[in-house]
Amino acid sequence: MYIRVHRRDNVAIVVTPDGVRRGDTLAGGLTAREPIPQAHKIALADFATGQPVVRYGQTIGHANRPIARGSWVRKEFLDLPAAPPLDDLPLATAVPDPLPPLEGYTFEGYRNPDGSTGTRNILGIATTVQCVAPSVDYAVRRIREELLPRFPHVDDVISVTHSYGCGVAIDAPGAAIPIATLKHISLHANLMAEPLLVSLGCEKLQPERLMGEQLPVLGESNVIRLQDHHGFADIVNAILRAAECRLDQLNRRRRATCPASSLIVGLQCGGSDAFSGVTCNPAVGYAADLLVRAGATVMFSEVTEVRDAIHLLTPRAATPDVGRQLIREMRWYDEYLAAGASDRAANTTPGNQRGGLANIVEKALGSVAKSGSTAIRAVAAHGEKVTAKGLVFAATPASDFICGTQQLASMNLHVFTTGEGSPYGLALVPVVKISSRSALAEKWHDLIDVDAGPIATGQATIEETGWHIFRFLLEVAGGRKTWAEHWHLANALSPFNPGPVT
Ligand code: CA
Repeated sequence: MYIRVHRRDNVAIVVTPDGVRRGDTLAGGLTAREPIPQAHKIALADFATGQPVVRYGQTIGHANRPIARGSWVRKEFLDLPAAPPLDDLPLATAVPDPLPPLEGYTFEGYRNPDGSTGTRNILGIATTVQCVAPSVDYAVRRIREELLPRFPHVDDVISVTHSYGCGVAIDAPGAAIPIATLKHISLHANLMAEPLLVSLGCEKLQPERLMGEQLPVLGESNVIRLQDHHGFADIVNAILRAAECRLDQLNRRRRATCPASSLIVGLQCGGSDAFSGVTCNPAVGYAADLLVRAGATVMFSEVTEVRDAIHLLTPRAATPDVGRQLIREMRWYDEYLAAGASDRAANTTPGNQRGGLANIVEKALGSVAKSGSTAIRAVAAHGEKVTAKGLVFAATPASDFICGTQQLASMNLHVFTTGEGSPYGLALVPVVKISSRSALAEKWHDLIDVDAGPIATGQATIEETGWHIFRFLLEVAGGRKTWAEHWHLANALSPFNPGPVT
């Protein structure tokens, strides 16, 4: 059994869990010439050297040797095509018509004084610099043990620690990205947009530099400078005292019915395989369309996993200006990679390749399926907070933990699709993990939240799975725990810092 995605495709993906054996006869009278593992590609036609290999209706590479029909199309048989040129891309030439609005979908969320909506009620202790991180972590352990049990309506207390804040060229253009990211995370909707803030005192990223005009809103009692205190016990007591006041405030909050339009959902994939582009990512794309129809914001990201599909995205831009912003982000990243003597080909991992992905072009074409079918309404640069409704491209690196950190600047719910599997999680928002294959969902039955694998075997449709994901997201937004939350799995924050370190 195999899956061919597009009528122009001259390769297909083997679906059978144990792969195919030499001599197996498949649909259409195709005979396998050799054993081919699940998720890997079988040639549907004879290839001459130089001929395009087509999947998703797009050229994913050129055969660098003759390949006979029924053979395993291995990654080393494909030469990587050039990335689509960024000049003369069609801008807003095929803007999709709006889909009918979806009314009446709600979740139980937390309404914040600043107008944002939380999906969790967490006390956050933000930090300006890595130097204070172990002290804040120590205080958080004490708060969890000694204070939190008295405040049952507060979900958790977390430290917003990171590797940034000092020893950096803080006026360099690249510094604006981690600073903006950290500011928006510190003021996150799930922290009621009002964190405590711990500073060392002498660091480059001073509280006013991090928070800007938001600093007075926090109030002086919520900003703790460690160098103002006498001894470690005094430091910890100052954090505990401030935490107790805030916990009392947070504990008085209750969930209220909020429209689905209050959701800001970040999408990303990690540990993708060749099924990702035919099961979980299209199902998430369908759910993304439903969210957009319900008035929510949906962000897709990961520049290197969009770059090779950019010619398919700029026509979907709502306006030529949005299309130009997409190109601006692609160009910025091309130049960033080139400055590091690299390019997008550096993206694929050994796991991607084991999972049947030949190269970044094939990965990108599967990755953008997450964006669904609606018009791209807006583009956010690295670190920028998303304010638009509808489908938004938020530029981030593809690295799971860096992308997640940057999306945290805006999102209150996270969707993570995976083929090879990752136990990824974040402390600030629920992460819903969706598998591309049932074998992964069975193996990691207590880590994967939704299995999109039945799409591959025809036991579920993309539409059914998309609706299931949409409803599941509303439940999670309203307090249902994900597996990552159940196990308290939270990856460290890793702000993207393209600027120089001193
Ligand atoms: Ca990723």
